[in-house]
Amino acid sequence: RAKEAGRGRYEVFDEGMRARAVARLQVENELRRALDREELQLFFQPIHDLQAGRIASCEALVRWNHPERGLVGPDQFIPIAEESGLIVPLGAWVLQRACRQLARWRRSVEAADSLRITVNLSARQVTQPDIVDTVAEAIEEAGLDPQDIGLEITEHVLIEDAQTTADTLRRLQRLGVRLVIDDFGTGYSSLSYLKRYPIEVLKIDRSFIDGIADDESGDLAIVTAIVRMASALGVDVIPEGVETEAQLQALRDLGCQYAQGFLLDRPLPPEELEARLRG
Ligand code: C2E
Ligand code: MG
Ligand code: MG
Ligand code: MG
Repeated sequence: RAKEAGRGRYEVFDEGMRARAVARLQVENELRRALDREELQLFFQPIHDLQAGRIASCEALVRWNHPERGLVGPDQFIPIAEESGLIVPLGAWVLQRACRQLARWRRSVEAADSLRITVNLSARQVTQPDIVDTVAEAIEEAGLDPQDIGLEITEHVLIEDAQTTADTLRRLQRLGVRLVIDDFGTGYSSLSYLKRYPIEVLKIDRSFIDGIADDESGDLAIVTAIVRMASALGVDVIPEGVETEAQLQALRDLGCQYAQGFLLDRPLPPEELEARLRG
C-alpha cells in the first residue's frame, strides 16, 4: 500500500512537471507566431527631467496582445523568450520598432525634438556576435542619431563572459549609443563597473526607492551613496519606481535630475505618450 501511494505521488509529480513543460512549450510556439502576426506591442514609460520639468526620454517596454489572454506583461514571456533563444528576433523587433517610433515622433511632435528612447537588452542578446550590427541597422533604418538611443542592460550581463561583453560594450560605445545599467543594486552592485565599462546612465532599482522617504529602512543612505558616487564619475542617475510624492521629494532633495515611476507616468501606448508630449 505504502509503495502504491509512493508510486502514485511520484506519478503526480511527473505529471506536474510534464504539464509545466508542455505549457512552456505552448507559450514558446505561440510567441514565435506572435512575432509574425504582429501581436507584440510597445508601450513607452516617460523618464522625467525634474529640473527642466519635461519628459527627457522614454523606455520602450514590450507587451503581448494575446488573442485570448489580452495584454500580457513581459514578465510572463521574456524569460521563456530568453531560454528558447526567441529573445534574439524579438529583441531585434523591439529595437527596430522603438527606433521607428522615435523617428515618427521627431517628425510630427515638436516637443520630441530632444526626446530619447531606451530599449532593454537581455544577456542573450548582448552575447550575439552581430548585436552591434543589429543596433546600428535599426538606428540607421530609422534615420536617427545613435545618441538618441540608450541600451538598458542589467549588472548580470556585465558578469557573464566578461571579456566578450567588455568588447561588445566598447563597440556599442564607439557606435555612439548610451549604455544604461538597469535595476542597479540588485546584482553584484560593484560600483567599479562604472569605471571599467563605458556606462553613461545608472537606473537605481525600485526596491531601494521604496523606503527612501522613511527613516528606518536604510534606503536613503544607500541611494545617497549611489547618487554621490555616480555624480563624481559623471554618470547620470535615474531612480525607478517612484510611486509617492514623499519619495519624489526625497530624490529632489538629493539633487536627482531624473525620475521614472507610476507617480509621474505609467508605461503608455504610443498615442498617449504623444498626447503627453503635446502637453
Ligand atoms: P525594467 O526594464 O526594470 O522596466 C521597469 C518595469 O518597472 C516595467 O515593468 C515598468 O512598468 C515597471 N514600473 C515602472 N514604474 C513603476 C512604479 O512606480 N512601480 C512599480 N511597481 N513598477 C513600475 P514591465 O513593463 O512589466 O517590464 C518588466 C521587465 O520586463 C522590465 O523591467 C524588463 O526587464 C523586461 N522587459 C520589458 N520589455 C523588454 C524588452 O523589450 N526586452 C527585454 N529583454 N526585456 C524587456
Ligand atoms: Mg529597463
Ligand atoms: Mg529596471
Ligand atoms: Mg528588470
